[in-house]
Amino acid sequence: MARQFFVGGNFKMNGTQKDLKAIVENLNNAQLDSNAEVVIAPPALYLDFVKQNLNKSTVEVAAQNVFNKPNGAFTGEISASQLQDLGIKWTILGHSERRNELGESDEFVASKTKYALDNGISVIWCCGESKDTRQAGETIKFVENQLAALAKQISESDWKNVVVAYEPIWAIGTGLVATKEQAQEVHAAIRSWLKQNVSDKVAQETRILYGGSVNAKNCKDLAKEEDIDGFLVGGASLKPEFVEIINSKQ
Ligand code: PGA
Repeated sequence: MARQFFVGGNFKMNGTQKDLKAIVENLNNAQLDSNAEVVIAPPALYLDFVKQNLNKSTVEVAAQNVFNKPNGAFTGEISASQLQDLGIKWTILGHSERRNELGESDEFVASKTKYALDNGISVIWCCGESKDTRQAGETIKFVENQLAALAKQISESDWKNVVVAYEPIWAIGTGLVATKEQAQEVHAAIRSWLKQNVSDKVAQETRILYGGSVNAKNCKDLAKEEDIDGFLVGGASLKPEFVEIINSKQ
């Protein structure tokens, strides 16, 4: 089974209603590759606003985070059932900005992933190494440990609702995109880890996205690599060039 190309837009903590309306209108008016699955993740405050303004059936809206408990006394958090209530079917989890700035551990990210999956929310699960880890030659080991923490908490059948995003921290927001060889090497290692530790089926079917300074200029080359099944895009998802990235496999 061919893996459907997938492009996520991670707006992070950016945008006002006016900005987001313009971004959504750009997508509404664009000719998007109908073979690409597209998911955009505005800040939680604007999930419903973006959803209401979007009129493209091939584009879904995602949260950037979700908690691992049902509704209750958790100040500042949002729940999977609240996402369901708004018709939101996706969330990003484990982004390095949350792992690093907010101290989210591999285990906490895995528990949130499990909770989201159990409650009908598909997950774009992020992983990736720092510059120091890469320079120490420990990239693959580092990413495998992140995967192992996730695999410990989710079952084989859960993986069909998980998209893996490999995002080297040194490439995020820096303009220093990984070379296609660097990205392909880690993507192949992730697939091979899934084959050995989960199943051949999960390894074959799981989409593995690359993220980190993806733009309209570098996306086409990266998209040609065998194990790169799409992108998670930050800065460029706020710009008109996001359309070119969505269409990079055409
Ligand atoms: P960037 O961010 O495209 O701005 O590098 C990617 C991400 O953090 O998802």
